Amino acid sequence: MADLWNSAQGRRLRLQLFERDRKANAPCRWCPDPIDYSLGPYTRGGDVMAWSPEHVKPRSLYPQLALEPTNIVAAHFHCNSSRGTRAGVNEMGTPSRAW
Ligand SMILES: [Zn+2]
Repeated sequence: MADLWNSAQGRRLRLQLFERDRKANAPCRWCPDPIDYSLGPYTRGGDVMAWSPEHVKPRSLYPQLALEPTNIVAAHFHCNSSRGTRAGVNEMGTPSRAW
């Protein structure tokens, strides 16, 4: 199956989502710290506290939602990479903000 998320279409969508979240000053999905949108979208080797797109329903299980904007929320790259790839983590529903 084609990897839509890493296609030209997916890259365009990421920029649109960054603009959406920047305008809304959207918070990180995982932690209470604000996202510094002046850093721009995360790029490889860049600041790990930069914005990155987080799929609420993981692409591995829901490839048909890879390019669905309502399935994609803001997260720090650091938080995204340390939590988002663990199996099952995305299936737990709304994460608590209390911790
Ligand atoms: Zn975070």
